[in-house]
Amino acid sequence: MQYLLAVASADGSRANQLLEEAWAAQASAAERRAAACVIDSNAAEITCPACGATFATGVSECPDCGLNLR
Ligand SMILES: [Zn+2]
Repeated sequence: MQYLLAVASADGSRANQLLEEAWAAQASAAERRAAACVIDSNAAEITCPACGATFATGVSECPDCGLNLR
């Protein structure tokens, strides 16, 4: 679903916060975990945003679920 929300610039931060809260309220635990996941290619290990597996960096896909990390 796509939509356009127009608000006064002074209300932009609050509108964004409300949209994020509405999304989090309907998202599954896996979706919330994936949204919070940041892949740092300079870290020793990364956590797959799709399946939650933790593994050493330097691979092009998750060794557990096959998610493409490039
Ligand atoms: Zn994975």
